[in-house]
Amino acid sequence: MPPPLPYRTVEEIDAEITALANDFPSTCHRVDLTHQTHEGRTMAYLKIGTGEGTNRPKVLITTGVHGRELLPPDAILNYLRKLLTAYRDQRSISVASFPDPVNQVTYPSVELGANDVKRIVEKLDLFVVPLVNPDGRAFDLTLHGLTNPDGSFDNTVPGGSRINWRMNRRPNPAGDPANPLCVGVDLNRNFDIAWNIEEYYTNPTSHVDVQTAPCNSDNYKGPSAGSEPETRNIVSLVEDQGIQFSLDIHSAAGEIFFPWGIEDNQSDDQFKSFDNPLWNHDPLHPDEHPGRDGVGHSAYAEFFPDSGPIRLRTQHRLIANTMRDEILAGAGSGTVATDNSTFQTGHSSELAVTNGDNTAYPGTMMDWIFSRQFLGGRTDPVFSFAMEVLPPSGPPDATNIMRPDPTTAYPKTEREVFIAVHTWLKYIAAWWPPRTGSSTCPCFIATAAFGSADHPRVEFLRDLRDRVFPATAAGKKFIHSLLRIYYSFSPAVARYLNGHEAARWVVRTCFLLPLVAILRGFMKFGRRTEQHSVILMGTIFGLVLAVFAGAVWLAFVVEMFTH
Ligand SMILES: [Zn+2]
Repeated sequence: MPPPLPYRTVEEIDAEITALANDFPSTCHRVDLTHQTHEGRTMAYLKIGTGEGTNRPKVLITTGVHGRELLPPDAILNYLRKLLTAYRDQRSISVASFPDPVNQVTYPSVELGANDVKRIVEKLDLFVVPLVNPDGRAFDLTLHGLTNPDGSFDNTVPGGSRINWRMNRRPNPAGDPANPLCVGVDLNRNFDIAWNIEEYYTNPTSHVDVQTAPCNSDNYKGPSAGSEPETRNIVSLVEDQGIQFSLDIHSAAGEIFFPWGIEDNQSDDQFKSFDNPLWNHDPLHPDEHPGRDGVGHSAYAEFFPDSGPIRLRTQHRLIANTMRDEILAGAGSGTVATDNSTFQTGHSSELAVTNGDNTAYPGTMMDWIFSRQFLGGRTDPVFSFAMEVLPPSGPPDATNIMRPDPTTAYPKTEREVFIAVHTWLKYIAAWWPPRTGSSTCPCFIATAAFGSADHPRVEFLRDLRDRVFPATAAGKKFIHSLLRIYYSFSPAVARYLNGHEAARWVVRTCFLLPLVAILRGFMKFGRRTEQHSVILMGTIFGLVLAVFAGAVWLAFVVEMFTH
């Protein structure tokens, strides 16, 4: 049975990759990857971008790592066509509204701005691998329409056939030629990060989501790290291009997450690192070298720095939360729509809680790409993310979550991929490389508290100062007086904050976040009622209130830390 549209066959995906390069020759190029898959297929990536010069962010998006996760490759190809068309025509991307017939809710249309489209195409070097596992997808599509004898779609019924195929199609290992369940390696356990779990963990059979045996498993990690041609293609692309930002899109859990997956607690201690052999498990001296726990908030916590000016850990959370917030905003109002569009964000293993315990994920693409910045000689930070899409609740899910129903569930899920990917790309394009200094008056305190002059909330405040207030004579006068007072103390406060993490947190959480929320509320109200004076008065009121509250907090914090 052929797959229902919009799910493309492997050949159709390959044809669309070629078509995009042909249709947009000045902005998009097809490049074939070196290693052929076990079944002789050629993998390809698209390189998108018009800009020239150095210091351009190198950005990677991958989809289709798992064969059965049919939606992300289709969605990313459709997004790229929208992006390139919008750029050519110098307009925004229109995401159509979608009436969900199952949940009886209409998701509103969304416009993704023309300025962001332009910035994404002109500022980034964007690499997209739409199908990392073509053999797995091809095989999965041959299973389409099958169910287990009990009617379920579970692919791990003992002795049963597999209905959904996750792994690649590495042939049976020697000595097991007849068993079809011995085929395949999970590409997302095959990367060279904590791959040797017996050496890496104290107890690799507990809370570690990987299989070392090939047969009858969904998570077989392969005979060696990077053994698979698909893995090697990604490794060379990442290394040759010096990828700094990556996003790997999967189905289907409603999550946006970031490293680490190999360890559920994170640390500022650089000696607690995946590549420090002193933390490995030594079977001859298990007391001195027990290995890493992987979970449990105990002695070992993986190094994940958060020092300035980049603040790697904070930035990961901010970017993931920004994607989450934009998806939610795109769902419109109403609890049914927002309940169906609420993503979880966090460190990978932090999100994966089973029976009260976290799970560790060795060998993933996300962790491997992230890990490269901590290996010898590298200085550039690397940001790595993964997303699990979120089909709407209802009958389509109950049947087969890996291939949401094309008419009742696909459009809602695809919209969210569009919004999430666009948000991620525009954030990077606006932010990277971060400015080291600013020629105009900087937002000292906000920059120190959020860790970047390009943080969206800092941009919002700067926009108020430079554009909204000066639009009226009264506003101009007000902002002038306010800034004169503000700049008399803000550099000193910013300096203090940069050296005091707890004070930064307090100022950010108790002062700036409420301030921006109040100001945004007044802006929205003022815009809707077209009352410019409402914006102005509201802003002044909010500002005074927030400055007062902030000052009290600040005094409290300074008091606390100087005693
Ligand atoms: Zn997956």
